[in-house]
Amino acid sequence: MRLTTVFLDRDGVLNRPAPEGDYIKSPDELEMLDGAVEAVRLLNEQGLLVLVVTNQRGIALGRMRPTDLERVHAALRSRLAAGGARLDGIYHCPHEKDSCECRKPLTGLFARAQRDHPEIAFARSAVIGDSATDMQAAERIGARSILISSEVLEGVENAASLLDAANLVVGGQGPPTARARASARSSGVPTSITGSGSR
Ligand SMILES: [Mg+2]
Ligand SMILES: [Zn+2]
Repeated sequence: MRLTTVFLDRDGVLNRPAPEGDYIKSPDELEMLDGAVEAVRLLNEQGLLVLVVTNQRGIALGRMRPTDLERVHAALRSRLAAGGARLDGIYHCPHEKDSCECRKPLTGLFARAQRDHPEIAFARSAVIGDSATDMQAAERIGARSILISSEVLEGVENAASLLDAANLVVGGQGPPTARARASARSSGVPTSITGSGSR
């Protein structure tokens, strides 16, 4: 089935995760993973809606302020933009465990994205993440799930990187639609760039 939306976890998918128990608190701690920018651009070129859904409990713990997270996300967007890629939205849960409806594996972030983008159909969505909680959220909304890890989970595809996962998604899409080509043009992405030759 042709997909319309890809939900990306952030840490361990787009950027190198902070050490266990720590958080990415400032732009200088943000290190993009190899191929991540290219992967997002590939998804953009297909006309897919690309949204980040990320748990950021460091805010509840007082390890960072909401403004710190905003600065990190501004840096994330600018590093993507430098490679001709863009995110259509970033949704985060700042809360403590067991205190909200949005911390993954709960689905509140996905519901919020759907309110902002009513065209989202979860059955035509994929969730790409690096942890079991991402995959549990995917199962709850009925989305395709792709795990960037060698861990084997029932009903979940594995990928070695975000670029590998993006190629899995794009490989099942067929040629870009007119809307996808128009979207790529309006974002300034040259339509002659077709990613890594996966088609
Ligand atoms: Mg992660
Ligand atoms: Zn929350």
